[in-house]
Amino acid sequence: MRRITTLATAACLLALPAMAQPAANDRLATAAQLRDGALAGNKAWGLLTNLTDTVGQRLAGSEAEARGRAWAKAELQKLGLVNIREEAFPLTAWERGQASATLVGSNHQLALTALGTSGATPAGGITAPVTCFASLAAFRAAPENQVKGRIVFIDHRMTVTQDGSSYGVNGAVRRAAPALGAQRGAVAVLIRSLGTDYHRNPHTGGTVFPAGVSPIPALALALPDAELLARRCAAGQVAMQLLATPISRPGQSANVSAEIPGSVPGEVVVLGGHLDSWDQGQGVFDDGAGVVITMAAAAAIKDHVTRTGLAPRRTIRVVLWGAEEFGLIGSRAYAVAHSQENIVLAGESDAGADRIFTFDSKVAETGLPLFAEMAEVLAPLGIDAARTNKAGGGPDVGPLAAVGAGIIDLGQDMTRYFNVHHTPDDTLDKVDRKQLDQNVAAWTAAIWLAATDDRPLRTK
Ligand code: ZN
Ligand code: ZN
Repeated sequence: MRRITTLATAACLLALPAMAQPAANDRLATAAQLRDGALAGNKAWGLLTNLTDTVGQRLAGSEAEARGRAWAKAELQKLGLVNIREEAFPLTAWERGQASATLVGSNHQLALTALGTSGATPAGGITAPVTCFASLAAFRAAPENQVKGRIVFIDHRMTVTQDGSSYGVNGAVRRAAPALGAQRGAVAVLIRSLGTDYHRNPHTGGTVFPAGVSPIPALALALPDAELLARRCAAGQVAMQLLATPISRPGQSANVSAEIPGSVPGEVVVLGGHLDSWDQGQGVFDDGAGVVITMAAAAAIKDHVTRTGLAPRRTIRVVLWGAEEFGLIGSRAYAVAHSQENIVLAGESDAGADRIFTFDSKVAETGLPLFAEMAEVLAPLGIDAARTNKAGGGPDVGPLAAVGAGIIDLGQDMTRYFNVHHTPDDTLDKVDRKQLDQNVAAWTAAIWLAATDDRPLRTK
């Protein structure tokens, strides 16, 4: 693990304005104590086991997601947090149904699954010629006769990256290609899964059909099956028989939140994860881990507050967003409902359960000294100093950042994340308990520092 050496190094990187801080040493010493206590704890593992085994997957808008909210509210209360709230919002709920695909004239049954919001085929399925494209750009450039009336397949390739950046680059294929296919007359759009494993587990995930575009079947192939299809395309004409039976209906979801009240009313530090998950696995890496990491971090701070009788200056609020997977529906509703609040900083854990190796901020210049303090306290966990003040944060803090909240982004090692992401393999056995606890330790220390600070952080 790389480590930064001194606070001075971090300070140079961040070009700090000169600013005196009252009792900075006490805050840092307490943050270090909280960090070490959380590192030795096992609260997150207990919560994650309980969430996985008693609730399981939590598809947005489903009864399962509602059971997840009931679980979260009960556990947050047990942890001693107060002001527990559930804030509902409407959404179009969606159910996966069945999917099957056969190459005409062959024995090949392809492993594939529908993308969230996919349309259905007619009840008896469809049979159509397939056009294969190496990339979204090639599909965009294709003439109409290669798209209209055909099943389109896009064979973009994700690579393994520690920071998950390949998902950012390739995500547009999943989000945009199905709607583009619908607008250009394709009868279905298939993509190579956004994933890095070679199990026959297709990776689901959300796609977007804008208003006025009727959903068509949109599905992802497991990597071995995507490569088989690409080889058959390269060898000549391919036709496919495809069946997909997802359904959509009006539904409801909600965000859950709970607080450790601050001593000065009005300023709020938000941390959390998203409670909904895809239905194929059990929503452990995505995002049960983020839910329990941030709950356990808040619990460690709450225990400290109870022991010492000293509240942090700012209110600490755990927010567990609903319906992230269908396009940040919960976090957008949350940002609208809380637009008048003074949320000074927000952070989300939503990149699995493996260790944090770096962090970034996006705060007002006056907040940069706080992040230099974090660098010092996080360094013993093997976490590199903040590299930029341009963090995007986890997906659900984006809508809060857009209305001015400062952002903290603790960057996790995503080397193996996309082996299980959105697949049936997203199960508890994949979690490394030591790395899970390192996440809790980092969030505990970082949030403690932010909540006991008074420097302005908001960007607007
Ligand atoms: Zn997620
Ligand atoms: Zn996800």
